[in-house]
Amino acid sequence: MNKNRKAVVLLSGGLDSATALAIAAAKGFDCYAMSFDYGQRHRFELEAAKTIAEKLGAVKHLVLPVGLGDIGESALTADIAVPKTRSDTDIATGIPVTYVPARNTVFLSCALAWAEALRAPDIFIGVNAIDYSGYPDCRPEFINAFERMANLAIKAAVEGNIRIHIQAPLLYLTKAEIIKKGMALGVDYSITHSCYDPSPEGLACGQCDSCRFRKKGFAEAGLDDPTHYAKK
Ligand code: ZN
Repeated sequence: MNKNRKAVVLLSGGLDSATALAIAAAKGFDCYAMSFDYGQRHRFELEAAKTIAEKLGAVKHLVLPVGLGDIGESALTADIAVPKTRSDTDIATGIPVTYVPARNTVFLSCALAWAEALRAPDIFIGVNAIDYSGYPDCRPEFINAFERMANLAIKAAVEGNIRIHIQAPLLYLTKAEIIKKGMALGVDYSITHSCYDPSPEGLACGQCDSCRFRKKGFAEAGLDDPTHYAKK
């Protein structure tokens, strides 16, 4: 398999990135998990990322400060209300205010820097283009373009020492398929955090896009949803 082959794995603390880490670990990679303190409005996902990295056996977990909050323009970093109970039609059209400007480009660029330093040819990212909010930096076109750019951008690739592969194993899976795959690999989803607008105690709202995709995923997979929801 991939024994002694290193991979950088982007880990937000949510359901998808936890599954991507479990997949990379199951493929035999030595996993270097990377999270970002990017000015998100709550800390619960970073706490979740730490626990997940430990439980899934990451060799190292790096939390990098990247001040996207100073740029604002997103409901996840600025004082803008997170949309709740959107209709399926609304979710299927347009890009909501929870989009963070250029987030995955910034995150993948940081992962690329670490990958070059580590001589890690593989970068895992848990993006998904099926059950998602339509963010442009979650689409296959973006992932393919970034991979091409990465191999033009870094010294280690230009000198022929590594070739970067952006691995997006969840790209074409439904949320239910992602959950089933993760459960088969032993992911404990009760420790993952997906909600965009949790209570002060860290309980999920159950109504934002992220909560709704997650709920639907567990329902369609026919599995109990271990998420801790706030009582209404
Ligand atoms: Zn929520």
